[in-house]
Amino acid sequence: MASDGLLANLNESQHAAVSSFADTLAILAGPGSGKTHTLTSRTAWLLSQGLQPWNVIVATFTVKAAREMKERIGRLLDNGLESKLILGTFHSIARRYLARYGYLIDIQKDFGIADSADSLAIIKRIVKREKYTIDPKVARSRISGLKSRKGGENAAPFQKPLKKTIEMQELDGCYEQYEEALKRSNLLDYDDLLLRCVDLLRQYPSCVSNVEAVLIDEFQDTNLVQFDLMRLFAAQRKRITIVGDPDQSIYGFRAAEVMNYKRMLHQYPDTVTIALEENYRSSGAILLSALSVIKQDSSRVDKSLQATHTVGTRPVLRKLANAHQEAEWIITEIQRCKGMTGHLLDLNDFAILLRSSSLSRLIESALGKSGIAYRMVGGLRFYDRLEVKIVLDYLRVISQPDNNDALARILNVPSRRIGDATIKVLLDEAEQSKITLWALIGGEQKMKFKPSTHAKNGLGEIVNIVHTARKQVADPDRKIDTVGLIKFVLKRIGFEKFLEDHHGDVAKGRWANVEELITQASDFQSMITTGYEEESLPEVEGLQQNLESDSLTRFLANVALASEVKNDKDEGAQTPQVTISTIHAAKGLEWPVVFIPGAYQGSIPHSRAEDENEERRLLYVAMTRAKALLYMSCPLKNSQQEQSTLSPFLSAPSLLRSLEQKGPTLRSLELQTIALILRRPLPSFLSISQASLLLKSEEDDIFTLNGENKAFNNDSQWQNRSGSPSFNMGQRPAQRQKK
Ligand code: ATP
Ligand code: MG
Repeated sequence: MASDGLLANLNESQHAAVSSFADTLAILAGPGSGKTHTLTSRTAWLLSQGLQPWNVIVATFTVKAAREMKERIGRLLDNGLESKLILGTFHSIARRYLARYGYLIDIQKDFGIADSADSLAIIKRIVKREKYTIDPKVARSRISGLKSRKGGENAAPFQKPLKKTIEMQELDGCYEQYEEALKRSNLLDYDDLLLRCVDLLRQYPSCVSNVEAVLIDEFQDTNLVQFDLMRLFAAQRKRITIVGDPDQSIYGFRAAEVMNYKRMLHQYPDTVTIALEENYRSSGAILLSALSVIKQDSSRVDKSLQATHTVGTRPVLRKLANAHQEAEWIITEIQRCKGMTGHLLDLNDFAILLRSSSLSRLIESALGKSGIAYRMVGGLRFYDRLEVKIVLDYLRVISQPDNNDALARILNVPSRRIGDATIKVLLDEAEQSKITLWALIGGEQKMKFKPSTHAKNGLGEIVNIVHTARKQVADPDRKIDTVGLIKFVLKRIGFEKFLEDHHGDVAKGRWANVEELITQASDFQSMITTGYEEESLPEVEGLQQNLESDSLTRFLANVALASEVKNDKDEGAQTPQVTISTIHAAKGLEWPVVFIPGAYQGSIPHSRAEDENEERRLLYVAMTRAKALLYMSCPLKNSQQEQSTLSPFLSAPSLLRSLEQKGPTLRSLELQTIALILRRPLPSFLSISQASLLLKSEEDDIFTLNGENKAFNNDSQWQNRSGSPSFNMGQRPAQRQKK
């Protein structure tokens, strides 16, 4: 494979980074500067230099980012080798190692994964049983924080304070019992996946003795444990590439450590740092307004970022009476935008980014009413939907009957006349006897509790279903796959009828979700069969590997890890849809048109957030997702009908267009700027050159940077059209030329 092609579409600094012979390389740069692009190209370049893909680890932050990266590398390589890379999120890579080598540290091969909802359910149960007063959600996040801080090699030792408040005592109690519950159910939570993998690699470094290179995207959001994992992966051959942007660090609340870059320099003093200074994603107007927000944080280290797109429509800031009207306005804008741009934009080009998923309800319902298709990412997750969760719980129990919580949830769904009280008694008895619920109802040990005849029959029924299903899975002649298994379960429990009986109007929609799950299982199955979802790790001398996990276990792991951030629907194949996402889940992604509703004090910055700068960075991340058009809005009453005021981050918006009435008309000029930025052909009803476009730049909605001044620069001043001085972050006024 020629490496020339790989290097063709890179600027000078990107080129230097991609083909650097430095062992440890750090690329620190702003949004849209091609960090991910560079990392992807470097991965391909390393392979072109003779590295074998199964000796290269590439870690990203979200499942979607991992998939995109794999596809991009695939396009660069064009030989299918990308599927052999050890590529995925930290969690999924860790899972892979634990599935193969976990036996070395006493992890059972068929462990399940407790997602955040499972963790919360377990903690809720403990809190209830122990009559604790602590809020289960608080307990969950504290426990997670403790786990990931205590695990890091560099962390301060986990010290218990001498004097304990009640809350601390309860937290200790929760922690201990939570860990026990996970262990009994043979579950690992998200933190365990990383921590246990660290344990494994510390004790058995030879598991990764083959690894030749480690590449990490979104480094600014790694936590201590992930940092340690990185070091352990690269222990043999210290060839590491990290890319990141401290200004986009938004996971501090999950113990991400901006300090990791300093640690990196400390651990690897020869690290070569490269900056990328050109933004290829957003229009100049969008970039400058985003920079004006981030620059309000005086504690940050400034870095240079220049717009390569010098024209663009100024971002809109719209105030509306209430959240209801805000949702309506977004719909109108989407329709208008689409209507006016012809074939230039389709619904896939639009994203609505939310500070918290609670803002989505009104918007979802407005989209629904207007018949605009949309997909949800992050927040309200597909796999959390009631009907989907029930089916998944059945699968989880079939895969691993020791999963107490999943089993407890399906005992009486559909109704088998096993009451809630009975379920609670059973769980308690299992707990006291230190056995699993499955062992108890499966008759491994004599049950002290005497259930009613109905309940007894019900329990017999579920035991029977699980046994039958497990037998079918294990039977080599039947070869029942995950899809077959789901269909078996649906039929056996009469699920379609159950939904009809209990969910009247919405039953159809719910059943459609179940069908979607079948499609996903089927897609996953074919990815496994074609080898695209490769799971193998290379053999290393002297260590035996477990066999690859069965496809059901892998499907469930995939679901558990995907649901950490999003509902991962197959995108290409479907009709165009607007994306609704949390800002957190939108990291690293980009869309031509972005809406950021809820720009009010209390939402962003969020009233419960501890770090105001992190909130500002969140807004910065959201704004820099937009390529051509950016709309922000603030309802003057929030969804609880309380008065709200504009986010202080946007209170100096001389680069924004404040709209009081209707949205802007997209004139031909603006359409052209969109086409230019997106590198798409102009709609046929338009054809004016870029030159004439610049000439006409005095149009008030258009923002132009002239050639020499396109660099963002602190000394220059930018004035808006009315001539009022703008704030100091600004840009020089565009040269206004008359026609
Ligand atoms: P973020 O910080 O948001 O993750 P990033 O730095 O990773 O951003 P990328 O997503 O890699 O940026 O790139 C942003 C956009 O710019 C992408 O559409 C990418 O294809 C494009 N791009 C990157 N480098 C170049 C280049 N040299 N020439 C043209 N386009 C480029
Ligand atoms: Mg990126």
